[in-house]
Amino acid sequence: MPDSLKPILDELAATFERYRNDPGFLEEFNYYLTRYSGRETPLYLCANLTRRLGGAKIYLKREDLNHLGAHKVNNTIGQILLAKRMGKKKIIAETGAGQHGVATAATAALMGMECTIYMGAEDVERQKLNVFRMQMMGARVVPATSGQQTLKEAVDEALAAWIREADTTFYLLGSAVGPHPFPLMVREFQSVIGRELRAQMLEAEGRLPDYCIACVGGGSNAIGMFSGFINDDGVRLVGVEPAGRGLEYGDHAATLCLGEPGVMHGFNSYMLKDQAGEPAAVYSISAGLDYPGVGPEHSHLKDLGRAEYVNASDAEALSAFFDLSRTEGIIPALESAHALAYAMRLAPTLSSDKIIAVNLSGRGDKDVAQVERMVREGLVTP
Ligand SMILES: *Cc1c(COP(=O)(O)O)cnc(C)c1O
Repeated sequence: MPDSLKPILDELAATFERYRNDPGFLEEFNYYLTRYSGRETPLYLCANLTRRLGGAKIYLKREDLNHLGAHKVNNTIGQILLAKRMGKKKIIAETGAGQHGVATAATAALMGMECTIYMGAEDVERQKLNVFRMQMMGARVVPATSGQQTLKEAVDEALAAWIREADTTFYLLGSAVGPHPFPLMVREFQSVIGRELRAQMLEAEGRLPDYCIACVGGGSNAIGMFSGFINDDGVRLVGVEPAGRGLEYGDHAATLCLGEPGVMHGFNSYMLKDQAGEPAAVYSISAGLDYPGVGPEHSHLKDLGRAEYVNASDAEALSAFFDLSRTEGIIPALESAHALAYAMRLAPTLSSDKIIAVNLSGRGDKDVAQVERMVREGLVTP
């Protein structure tokens, strides 16, 4: 990170420490999680899918039922309440596919704050509907026109804007990545997933699950889920990364499976690099997963051997997307379909007394047009 960001990050870290266990802060956070986002989200047993696969029981943690259709709002509510306490008037954020931009725009509208979203010019073109959604909720969308014109450039430009206007502006980061305190803060705000799941599973089954499975982009929904079970050695934590078209350079974004240690955007973690050591070109069918880095806490859990990281391809994710739609009447986000694909591979290899919990991080409405186009062009058969 540039030196000029150091005092800004220190102030943010101090503010977070001051409020993370503050009863008034937690009460307000919980109020919006409940009344605005509709928590708690259900724990749902996929009886049809379990019967069809034969083997372990598959449960879904229904983060897709949050306001705006994914887990991201848990984090944007938490951070914007901090911004309010810091007296900030403006919110800036980066977005790739647009999902974090939409969640940020919504919570900024809710709190009456000015909101600017930086988005790669390529992504602005590809995600027109999300750009319009952000604008409808009063946000200004600024296309990042440098380099590849995607997420990395959007982050660069958002950070530059933050340095220019840090006294009035709060940078609302979208995943468990970036410099301290962001990975910690985002985990804390997403830890509601793991906490609820733990209690719901004890109520439903009288015991903890054998596996917790989540997809990993930057790693926020996964770390939120895992954080509820870190000290339970009997619970295996599995992160599923996108294997895209295959495991050749440029065809995937399986950072923990295939990356090496490195530094980007102010954090030290596994990353995918090109020959010059710069962040690699990455690909996934699911726009929310194609990032060449991953949250540093996941790197730590991998090195400790506490969590394992596997991958699922575009084709497997698509197949899980259709399977869940047909057997349970739930259309999952393509991101979440990666976690489900691995669970569906695993379940038949386990006995029927085993329990798998899958974090269904989002709903698939946003992906239906993309999949419809692929079906129409004969690229995939439902
Ligand atoms: C953004 C997104 C992800 C990936 O982000 P993480 O920080 O890895 O959770 C996964 N699922 C959905 C539905 C998303 O919108």
